[in-house]
Amino acid sequence: MTRKRVKETTIGSKQGASCNELLALLNEYVDGDVDPAVCKEFENHLAKCNPCRVVVDNVRQTITLYRQNEPCKLPETFRKKLHSCLRKHWKKSKAGK
Ligand SMILES: [Zn+2]
Repeated sequence: MTRKRVKETTIGSKQGASCNELLALLNEYVDGDVDPAVCKEFENHLAKCNPCRVVVDNVRQTITLYRQNEPCKLPETFRKKLHSCLRKHWKKSKAGK
């Protein structure tokens, strides 16, 4: 077991959107219902934040598949699952105490 210490995260208040802000926007983002400006912010964050990028990538794929089968909104259970998944990822990425 190797333990890597995360010295500092690039995600900060000065870097634009934070992980928490992304979480709040994620529903709209995956629905394609976000302002272009917000969307850009989102992309900027993802470019710096690997955990978020991985998660969002997965989400996108899931949604694409989902939409191909049935053009309807994401089920509530999926959203909840998604959120807890994101939180877990972010928690892990901040684990360097
Ligand atoms: Zn993030």
